Amino acid sequence: MEFIIPRGTQDILPGESERWQYIEEIVRGICHTHQYKEMRTPIFEHTELFSRGVGESTDIVQKEMYTFADKKNRSLTLRPEGTAPAVRSFVENKLFANPIQPTKLYYIGPMFRYERPQNGRYRQFYQFGIEAIGSSDPAIDAEVMALAMSVYRKAGLKNLKLVINSLGDKTSRHAHREALINHFEGRIGEFCGDCQKRLKQNPLRILDCKQDRDHELLKSAPSILDYLNDESKAYFAKVQQYLTNIGISFEIDPNLVRGLDYYNHTAFEIMSNAKGFGAITTLAGGGRYDGLTEEFGGPKAPGIGFAMSIERLLAALDAEDVKIAADQGIDCYIVTLGEQAKDYSVSLLHKLREAGISAEIDYEQKKMKGQFKSADRMHAKYIAILGEDELNQQKIKLKDAKTGEQQEILLDELIAFIKENS
Ligand code: ATP
Ligand code: MG
Repeated sequence: MEFIIPRGTQDILPGESERWQYIEEIVRGICHTHQYKEMRTPIFEHTELFSRGVGESTDIVQKEMYTFADKKNRSLTLRPEGTAPAVRSFVENKLFANPIQPTKLYYIGPMFRYERPQNGRYRQFYQFGIEAIGSSDPAIDAEVMALAMSVYRKAGLKNLKLVINSLGDKTSRHAHREALINHFEGRIGEFCGDCQKRLKQNPLRILDCKQDRDHELLKSAPSILDYLNDESKAYFAKVQQYLTNIGISFEIDPNLVRGLDYYNHTAFEIMSNAKGFGAITTLAGGGRYDGLTEEFGGPKAPGIGFAMSIERLLAALDAEDVKIAADQGIDCYIVTLGEQAKDYSVSLLHKLREAGISAEIDYEQKKMKGQFKSADRMHAKYIAILGEDELNQQKIKLKDAKTGEQQEILLDELIAFIKENS
């Protein structure tokens, strides 16, 4: 019987997993300097968390969820995104009671969406995301966008574009919504079935339709920016001022709306401008959501966050031809001659490793020549050579792979020597 991996998923193998670890290190480092702390929520949640939290009218809830009944017939869903679980956890664990606010969280882990797989689009993909919950200071909006940009820059990307918009507050959105309905109503028949439903549910999302993105009515659609009330305008101006002061350039796109229903005020996306980066150029998306904590039965605690997938970040690195140093090699390979030396090497190997030295031996009964070859393949810095003579004298030959120099040292001094010299 042959098994193959499910469609839209991938194995991340040695050679590639180092790239993932490298990105994860960058992410954790930057979250630390910005004081975002990691949270880990379950891979599955009650389905209702997403249908309520992400929004009934979204593509995620309408088409993309992996939903199943457990043995007690409860409806569960593999998490398609991280904001609803983060906010659920924030409310459930009363993180709002912590004296330090806003609560700044990050997550990194797999998400699941039943989508048509293509480059940069998978059914299981890894998202890194942050949420700052409990402040509506526009300085936090700027911080969140700056953090995302820092991750990409530190990873080595240069061709980035930050696009921002404001969706205003409830009042502004209400007025804009009416204008959108008026604009599209007469010719809604020219749009896809989804958009026809969106017209009454959430007309803003027509602007986000992938099928009808080139329809002329999208270009002439009423701009949310013309409907912002004074407060929303002032908020947006402050966000822009902070970004400018930090030194982050951005573009404003009044048609940028986020797929999820609960966003207001700041919405943003980060795109790759790299040539050769396929049709999907969005690397990250995020925005402000005020009111989600209350929707989940908690106190008022306005939030903002973003999510990016590691897959698209890596694809962007490939498109810009940024290389990540993968295999660093090992510190020491022990070559042995004879059974006695082999037996001894098993415990010596363990001692080296316990001392924090990366080391290997041969497990295939190879001749010395083959062992030297393995040492070379593993990019060993030192090759320790042990035969019966050396063992009897409690010594070991040590060869520096780079210089080819060889010397004899006491077995007792091996660890200290390697530690000092590598
Ligand atoms: P898209 O328009 O590409 O479908 P989205 O609006 O559904 O994106 P979000 O829900 O905002 O995306 O997710 C944030 C980020 O997660 C995206 O910008 C992208 O980097 C990544 N992402 C989303 N869906 C996938 C997927 N199926 N495979 C890989 N990465 C994804
Ligand atoms: Mg999507």
